[in-house]
Amino acid sequence: MPMQEFDPTEYAPETVAVRAGYRRTAEGEHSEAIFPTSSFVFGSAAEAAARFSGEQPGNIYSRFTNPTVRTFEQRLAAMEGGEACVATASGMAAILATFMGLLRGGDHVVCSRSVFGTTTVLLNNYLVRFGVEVTYVPLSNVDAWSEATRPNTRLYFCETPSNPLGELVDIRALAALAQARGVLLAVDNCFCTPALQRPLALGADLVIHSATKFLDGQGRCLGGAVVGDAERVGKDVYGFLRSAGPTLAPFNAWVFLKGLETLHLRMRAHSENALALARWLDVHPAVTAVHYPGLVDHPQHALAKAQQQGFGGVLSFEVAGGRAAAWSVIDATRMLSITANLGDTKSTITHPATTTHGRLEPDQREVQGITEGLVRVAVGLEAMADLQADLARGLDRLA
Ligand SMILES: *Cc1c(COP(=O)(O)O)cnc(C)c1O
Repeated sequence: MPMQEFDPTEYAPETVAVRAGYRRTAEGEHSEAIFPTSSFVFGSAAEAAARFSGEQPGNIYSRFTNPTVRTFEQRLAAMEGGEACVATASGMAAILATFMGLLRGGDHVVCSRSVFGTTTVLLNNYLVRFGVEVTYVPLSNVDAWSEATRPNTRLYFCETPSNPLGELVDIRALAALAQARGVLLAVDNCFCTPALQRPLALGADLVIHSATKFLDGQGRCLGGAVVGDAERVGKDVYGFLRSAGPTLAPFNAWVFLKGLETLHLRMRAHSENALALARWLDVHPAVTAVHYPGLVDHPQHALAKAQQQGFGGVLSFEVAGGRAAAWSVIDATRMLSITANLGDTKSTITHPATTTHGRLEPDQREVQGITEGLVRVAVGLEAMADLQADLARGLDRLA
């Protein structure tokens, strides 16, 4: 019997997330099979030679390709609208593979100031050793990106919306600038996922993921991915990865595949919960500010509405009384998990100034708006009444 072929271009995004990328095996299984094998067997010495020389396509070794990993790659590529996707052992491995695949000594990177902390560590402590130069700019100010651009600038790197303040950059405007200046634009799409934002359609060249967050969605596995065109991602990034080795394990790829199947539903639910919680916090007497792009008074609310299909699951708020007050709200919770992870069905609460952003100098933190009274909540899928009650325990005492 001929195999049914699924052509993602004929289907809506929700359908692509459920079905793209899989070729059923001869067993006729309905759920995707896992292939936990390090190597693959050849029919003859001649076939082995043909595979190794590249004359014949096919699997050789799981550091290069693996069927479960490939299904995840093809599904995510279809969801992001990219030609190629390369899966990695973690989000940081995706960022490393992007830098190593695309940059060389003497290249210059312009990076948003508000990217994931470890991304700046990777650039400042490691990439600079190989002669890569970096300039940091405020995320939303496209003129600042333009001014920072030099003749040797090769890459713009940003994350939108930002963590934990939910700042945005106009991806279309930044992509236009990148194209005009002959620079590649990479967007870390971890917070929105393709369910809420598709940077490639807005003109970006590369999309980066930490699959550890919303793509998994239940806090189980580490993984990452880079999506883009066949040349940069399919050859340059993949070439680094197959040589250096931080590839995704088949079991983790399978967990992420299951995560992608419910991604649209979950992102909608995370966004609804986050908006409801943001509105509740906004009128709480102990809360002095709420940062969430879904609130109408957020400075980039209109851009978020135009650029995203939802506002996402992460918000932050401020209380008067600095660190002691923020910690008291966190410590008064009984249900929320005190952890820096995000993108989980379980809501998490953290104090950015002393955890995710603790490595920054105090003046740098101030520039970035990470005050001592700031608390971040990655809103999960629990009932709103329970989330409010858990936060009210500490907030009501401050009010
Ligand atoms: C977590 C995270 C990363 C790093 O991903 P890991 O899977 O932890 O390596 C990169 N970017 C963003 C925005 C993240 O939240």
